[in-house]
Amino acid sequence: MEVPEHKEIRELARRFLSERGGALRAYEEEEAFPWPLVEEMAELGFLGVFVPEALGGAGLDFFAYLALLEEMGGWASLRSVLSVQQSLVLTPLLAYGTEAQKARYVPRLARGEVLGAFALTEPEAGSDAASLKTRARREGDFYVLEGQKTFISHANVAEVFLVFAKTDPEKGAKGITCFLVERGDGVKTSPLKGKLGLRAADTGMVFLDGVRVPKDRVLGKEGEGFRIALSTLDTGRISLAAGAVGLMQRALDLSLAYAGERKQFGKPIAQFQLVQEHLAAMKLDLEAARLLTYRAAWKKVKGEPYTLEASLAKLFASEAANRVAYRAIQVHGGYGFFEEYEVARLYRDARILTLYEGTSEVQKLIIGAHLTGVRAFA
Ligand SMILES: Cc1cc2nc3c(=O)[nH]c(=O)nc-3n(C[C@H](O)[C@H](O)[C@H](O)COP(=O)(O)OP(=O)(O)OC[C@H]3O[C@@H](n4cnc5c(N)ncnc54)[C@H](O)[C@@H]3O)c2cc1C
Repeated sequence: MEVPEHKEIRELARRFLSERGGALRAYEEEEAFPWPLVEEMAELGFLGVFVPEALGGAGLDFFAYLALLEEMGGWASLRSVLSVQQSLVLTPLLAYGTEAQKARYVPRLARGEVLGAFALTEPEAGSDAASLKTRARREGDFYVLEGQKTFISHANVAEVFLVFAKTDPEKGAKGITCFLVERGDGVKTSPLKGKLGLRAADTGMVFLDGVRVPKDRVLGKEGEGFRIALSTLDTGRISLAAGAVGLMQRALDLSLAYAGERKQFGKPIAQFQLVQEHLAAMKLDLEAARLLTYRAAWKKVKGEPYTLEASLAKLFASEAANRVAYRAIQVHGGYGFFEEYEVARLYRDARILTLYEGTSEVQKLIIGAHLTGVRAFA
């Protein structure tokens, strides 16, 4: 299988990271959102890679987006901004938005003038997202939203929120509707600090306390919200897998460099076969994850069903990234245990990958359902 390289965007990302990647450390230490770096990424067109030029994007294809996520994967707090904006917000807007909705939101999001958020998870509705409690009641030409969302990426920095709420609770998942809500509508947010990884990425709670949104802000149709959420997460899972591949590549590059320099017993540790075993296992995980990721992407761009392939890629790549980050620290010895060495951050950043956009257990249940025809959850 040929993997499109998209050399130009890779080059742009490499240059940006070599000049500016080091600046991320201070934001990570402070748990602060790296606005200046995000603005620079926006200027480079990184926030609207596959959005048509007519709508303010770079007009490239989905593989260019994956190439960018791979390059940025080792800087997970920055990669996360790209994934949330494009996989979780722009993708459903482009797929389900009316012309008026696209005109209102897509250009500003694609140019990175504003950030978006995808607000599905609630304190009591995580893996079981369909059990969400946020309510949207119709009042004339408006809907009134009541509820709380948690763990929302970009909660405190976004201007536009895709909010999933129940318009018809009797219907369960089929009673969920997706709304385009603006901060100015009265959304309140609060930060969630103290994350193990992704420390410069914004995460927070979203409070909808009688927020009124006009009826033309429904994305898709009433009752179609859960379908929109699931199809969005299919794309999101491919992009997370690409980010995991990038994290593995960075961990391997750093480990190779270190193993070549560090001497013990009078020679570089790279010459010890047990160190080479670590490096070989890292390379194998990386390449296998990459192929699964691109196979899922091929299916998506060909318009074929790809839910199974997206879950396989996400499950394997996210678990593999944790194995690879573990080995990277092992190759670095005690030095890898210190934040001064980037592998320490990679180890922390890898951990989220098996949790969000469907835990590894949820991916296994999706795969199991495809294999057996029996769904473990409704
Ligand atoms: C940093 C961060 C950013 C996030 N960003 C977003 C965002 O932008 N938007 C958004 O909507 N959400 C976001 N999330 C939420 C994330 O998607 C959820 O945390 C995830 O879906 C898991 O839900 P939970 O944390 O409630 O865990 P739970 O669902 O409570 O799961 C706890 C454990 O039980 C297991 N489990 C649950 N059900 C089953 C089952 N049926 N069978 C087997 N095992 C099961 C899980 O796999 C897990 O191991 C984010 C989370 C984090 C940490």
